[in-house]
Amino acid sequence: MTLKRLITAIMLLFAAGIYTDACAQKKLGTGIRKLLGMEKKNAQTELSYPEFKPLSYQEYCGTSIEDIFYNPNPEIIPISTERNFTDFSDLPDEYDIWSNSTINPYGISLVGMKDTIKIDVKGYCPPSVKHVTSDWGFRKWKFHYGIDLKVHRGDTVRCAFDGTVRITRRDRGYGYFVVVRHDNGLETLYGHLNKILVKNDQKIKAGQAVGMGGNTGRSTGYHLHLEFRYLGNPINPNDIVNFETHEVHKPVLVLNARTFAYKQEIDKIRYWTVRKGDTLGRIAYRTGVSVNKLCKLNGITKTTVLRIGRKIRYT
Ligand SMILES: [Zn+2]
Repeated sequence: MTLKRLITAIMLLFAAGIYTDACAQKKLGTGIRKLLGMEKKNAQTELSYPEFKPLSYQEYCGTSIEDIFYNPNPEIIPISTERNFTDFSDLPDEYDIWSNSTINPYGISLVGMKDTIKIDVKGYCPPSVKHVTSDWGFRKWKFHYGIDLKVHRGDTVRCAFDGTVRITRRDRGYGYFVVVRHDNGLETLYGHLNKILVKNDQKIKAGQAVGMGGNTGRSTGYHLHLEFRYLGNPINPNDIVNFETHEVHKPVLVLNARTFAYKQEIDKIRYWTVRKGDTLGRIAYRTGVSVNKLCKLNGITKTTVLRIGRKIRYT
């Protein structure tokens, strides 16, 4: 019994020795294979998992400190894009409304808006590179909600940003006009066109032709009437673009209550409706505004015939 046990023990030890040796040889084999470059596949797999390096706050601006140090997969967001990261505003829910006929179907006033909206305007392409013929703002008794740029008959009028064509039709005032809803949330209107070159619901890129320069509608002389709107509310084009260089002021357009404060100025305007027997002198007496000022505000002279029903601005 004792001898048998001894023999068994020796055989077990021997077997264990062979096993250990085999393991060592295998390791050596792995080492040799590595040296010969046969482990290339494994090496590549290892390389695709870069070391975790917490980003600096500057590199990750716009994100909380917690996100920087506890983000388990920092390689998902490349640092290069994160450096220029701006949290652009989401498109408002009201843009669920899609009308092929109404310029402002949203019915929302942004006067005194509480939020700040950030819009990406870096992809701007000038619709016309010619000079301004009439600026945004008060025009005697009316407000001009866009900017007029010179075009010659048949000049290509180009789309300002990527987007989708919403309206292509003719109107007494705008003549042949196009409205585009842009991917950045703005809408643009191109008026007095000679010819429309796009169709409703068509996807369009910045710089693509929307139409040809014209003089249709209520227009004197060939020009492009260009409007920028957000949720139907016109924005002063000079807030977005420098019309001397035809470049955007900044790649990010910030909209806030100040952007739409001009509407309060418009609301302050009061009109006197001309009645039978009214003269400028009588209107001046009744409103407390001098005849000269009435003439200036309304672009008329002391001898202009006042048609009954005409609105005379007096503030
Ligand atoms: Zn105009």
